[in-house]
Amino acid sequence: MKPNSLQELYLEQLRDLYNAEQQIIEALPDMIDVASSPDLRDALSEHLEVTKEQVTRLEQIFQTLGEKAKGETCKGMQGVIKEGSSLIGDIKDTDVRDAAIIASAQRVEHYEMAGYGTARTYAEMLGHEEAAQLLQETLDEEKEADQALTDLAGKINPRASSGKAASTKADKRRVA
Ligand code: FE
Ligand code: ZN
Ligand code: FE
Repeated sequence: MKPNSLQELYLEQLRDLYNAEQQIIEALPDMIDVASSPDLRDALSEHLEVTKEQVTRLEQIFQTLGEKAKGETCKGMQGVIKEGSSLIGDIKDTDVRDAAIIASAQRVEHYEMAGYGTARTYAEMLGHEEAAQLLQETLDEEKEADQALTDLAGKINPRASSGKAASTKADKRRVA
């Protein structure tokens, strides 16, 4: 059903987020499995736990609205996750693979941030203060996760860039 009011649009956004979070809960264990850096594995594992609480928050909001907690396939998140996993799966070098996991995970976080920012604003406009607060909490957690990944990239990207491919390039430069 196409939304015809901000209230309906809000509900549609919540259902999209609910499904997106479930996709993330399915995808994160695979990312953790193929990550090499213990810090990266820890960050992803921690965010997996946080994500489960985010699902509970959405369920709370559905309940307050008197709506069934059900998702609507988030095709955007499907694409983000699919693109990430097909990229990561092909990478043999562990540092480069970790860098790719971070790149993919940050796309997930940013996609979520867009959704939660919108839903939080709709909740505010509709006068649902408690829901707005819950959605803001999740938005803050997504931002924290994104920042943690940026910090990790600061350590992991340099390792990835000092790998074989980079030294080959440097050798070529020296010859030239
Ligand atoms: Fe989330
Ligand atoms: Zn979506
Ligand atoms: Fe997240």
